[in-house]
Parts: sequence; C-alpha cells; structure tokens
Amino acid sequence: METLVTGKTILIVEDEQDIVELITYNLEREGFRIDSAGTGEDGLKTAKANSPDLILLDLMLPGMNGLDVCRVLKADDATCHIPVIILTARDEDVDMVTGLEVGADDYVTKPFSPRVLIARVRAMLRRHEATREVGSPIHVGEVTIDPGRHRVIAGGKSIEFTFTEFKLLVKLARHPGWVFSRSQLIDELRDDQYVIADRAIDVQVANLRKKLGEYGHYIQTVRGVGYRMQEIP
Ligand code: CA
Repeated sequence: METLVTGKTILIVEDEQDIVELITYNLEREGFRIDSAGTGEDGLKTAKANSPDLILLDLMLPGMNGLDVCRVLKADDATCHIPVIILTARDEDVDMVTGLEVGADDYVTKPFSPRVLIARVRAMLRRHEATREVGSPIHVGEVTIDPGRHRVIAGGKSIEFTFTEFKLLVKLARHPGWVFSRSQLIDELRDDQYVIADRAIDVQVANLRKKLGEYGHYIQTVRGVGYRMQEIP
C-alpha cells in the first residue's frame, strides 16, 4: 500500500461527464482534491486561477482542442511547470507523439483502468517532487541548469522547459560524455511497470534541442545507442 498523497489537487479537463465522474471518484478515494473543466478554455482559466499540482487533459474537446490547451499551458510562465498527462484514444500513436511535442509530460490511452491512471498520477507527482528537491546548479558550456529552482539559463537567457524535458536534461547534464540508451532514459522518466515508446524519448530530445537553440548541439545522438551531453572543456 502506497502512502496516501493528500492535499494535492488534480485538474481534469474533459467533456465526457462519465469519464470525469469515474476519475473523480477514484482519485478522491486516494486523497486527491479534484477540479474539473468541460472545455479547453475553462481548463486554461482554472489552471491559471487555482494552479493545480497536475492536469489530466483530454485531447478531444469541443472548441479549443487538448493539444492547443497544452501548448498554451506550456507557453505560460504561470502554468508551464504543472505536469500534464494527456488522455488519448487507444492506439492513436500520432496523438501521443503530437501531445509530447507540445509539451505534455505523459499520456494514458483510453479506455484506461482507474488503477493504472492513479499509478501514473502518483508516479508523475513523485518525480515532480524529487526534481524540485535535488541538487546544486550544473554547468555545461554556456548552459546552467539549476535543478532546485527548475531553471535553465543558456547564453544568459532563461529557457522554460516542461517537467519531463527538464528531467531528461538534468540526467544527461549530470554526466557529460556518458552515453545513455533510450531505455535508460525511459527508466529515468517512468517507473518500471510502464512501457514508453523509444519514439517518445526522441520527441523529448528534439524539444530539448529546439529550446536550447544554438546550444542544442550539446546534446549528441550516438547512432544505434542513444544520447549524450557533450563534454565541454
Ligand atoms: Ca472528450
């Protein structure tokens, strides 16, 4: 039995009322507080006003769709650090990849079992806490990563990363020159019991490089193996 996480608020953005009720019932039983919004616009407003600890975001919403909602959340300083788990239809691989590209931190495919969803939520919150607590700043060339403050300065400019991107960056930057396989990076991002596609790691790395801009090449691809942070003398 895991320790009860109490006092954490989860925002559910979903238009299908039966799914909202299912999630609410199960998460409340686990000690979470639940907020819900039936449209993307309402979800954005609620996220800004209440700053929840995590957002469960359906992609198929009336009006503004989930991908656009995610984009806005991740582009806003007030909400970009909130972990987002997207809910996608089964086997919609494209949705999953697009979701990660716009900054979602994880995904769950519908239909899901409440047990799986709760485990994912817990795992995400645990990792989020762990990232906040640890470590002194890491310097790689022109890039400074401050794990305690969840802040990255590259060439004097502050860059916003999602929780998942940040976690990957810290992992690579702590050991410059070391090559990490995709499965090692996946382990870093997710508890062992879950399967995450190699492709998802590639998408996250592509996001990292893009955001790092002229320093994106610090993250090197090692063909057939994985990725490493360049050693900069
Ligand atoms: Ca929906």
